[in-house]
Amino acid sequence: MPPTEPLPQLAGASVVGKSGAVIYAGAAAVGAIESVVAGEPTSSPLPIAIAFLVAALLWRYGGRVDRRLLFGLGPIGAVLLGCAIATSPPGDGAVMYAWSVLWVASFFGTAEAVAIVLTVGAVQGAVVVHMPGGTFDQWFDVTASMAVVAAVVRSLAARNEKLVGRLTVESRIDPLTGVLNRRGLEERFDVELARAARERRPLAVVAIDIDHFKRINDEHGHQAGDRALVWLAATLCEHTRGADVIARVGGEEFTIVLPGADLASAYDFADRLRERVAHVDVAIPLTISAGVAAADAPTTADALTEAADRALYDAKRGGRNRVASTV
Ligand code: GH3
Ligand code: MG
Ligand code: MG
Repeated sequence: MPPTEPLPQLAGASVVGKSGAVIYAGAAAVGAIESVVAGEPTSSPLPIAIAFLVAALLWRYGGRVDRRLLFGLGPIGAVLLGCAIATSPPGDGAVMYAWSVLWVASFFGTAEAVAIVLTVGAVQGAVVVHMPGGTFDQWFDVTASMAVVAAVVRSLAARNEKLVGRLTVESRIDPLTGVLNRRGLEERFDVELARAARERRPLAVVAIDIDHFKRINDEHGHQAGDRALVWLAATLCEHTRGADVIARVGGEEFTIVLPGADLASAYDFADRLRERVAHVDVAIPLTISAGVAAADAPTTADALTEAADRALYDAKRGGRNRVASTV
């Protein structure tokens, strides 16, 4: 069952903002230290002062700033560095373009990585043209190196994002049956409850438990028990619609969330399912018991689950292979 939620980003705005602040403060500190060591300002103090100010603001407010705006700090950093290089005696300050390039390629996409390399190319081009005796070589070495840094870092970051995305999906899926696990259910449940409240539609929950499953394991072996669980999960998927949520929440316990269903239709659904399971011709006959609960006003996942579990308990006490609902 594919998750409907967007995958979480690898780094939140606060990590991006704080790391940007550290880079701006670091670059400003390098400029200040070089001036102190040289005994005189080695570059104009203006870019250094601006960088310190940006760093302080970023540290404080970076977490609240839109990601697209944060990206702008990469090119701005490159421009500030270009100003510092252009107003300093000849040196190797160009190596510090890598700070902006690394930051952008790590935290933003391919388009942004290309944009920062183009910015560095343009800024360094302007610096070289402005510099007495500037050569093509001084522009090309820097621009090509920054392009390589951006390409390598972006491909590593993209690989990490893909892996984290896969883990995020897998951590919500039961490996045996392929339906959601408890964690996946909790997330989807909240989404469906919020949607039901917004659209003023009912929502029902069916708690299902295989009857005497321990006996099935004891008589036919654990692997046969596993196969029965896989078969039941597939049967549940077959009998539900795309919008329904199916999860394995315990050993032989499943929960189905039925958005839009009221108590009566959820009961009918659960009873059809129970009948189908009881009468299907499989190697190991199974029966299930189910508890049904529904809400037509905003409620919580816990309250609905508890109500469905109470009904399931009644179904078990009533003799199993039956459905019960909360009144
Ligand atoms: P009841 O009708 O009251 O629900 O009885 P039951 O035997 O189904 O319930 P009980 O809770 O006593 O036993 C559940 C069994 O489910 C015990 C456990 O060995 C088995 N089980 C739990 N997880 C798995 C699993 O992943 N695979 C298999 N094969 N069995 C499992
Ligand atoms: Mg059980
Ligand atoms: Mg059971």
